[in-house]
Amino acid sequence: MSPRIWPPVLNWKPSTHWDYEAEANGTPGACVLCGKPSLLLSTDGVPCHKVCAEGWFEQHPQAWAAYEAQRDQPKTAARMAVPQASDPDNGLFDQAA
Ligand SMILES: [Zn+2]
Repeated sequence: MSPRIWPPVLNWKPSTHWDYEAEANGTPGACVLCGKPSLLLSTDGVPCHKVCAEGWFEQHPQAWAAYEAQRDQPKTAARMAVPQASDPDNGLFDQAA
């Protein structure tokens, strides 16, 4: 298994990667990698800078490849769920609204 995207680039835009509680309290946790205060959270929910995580992945290509594979799974499933031309009105878009 080899990484597709190199060097590692993380998308931490989802709100799950931001510690709103620590931000409100002014008490950011210590980054697990560099130990400096961080309001960013890793995928596991522990304080971690994005650049630190990317640097860590760069030193652990196998872990990055595994992360990529896991991350891309939902996208693959979504692509398979695309409506067929023969079924133009299946209610998918009504539900999304
Ligand atoms: Zn850090």
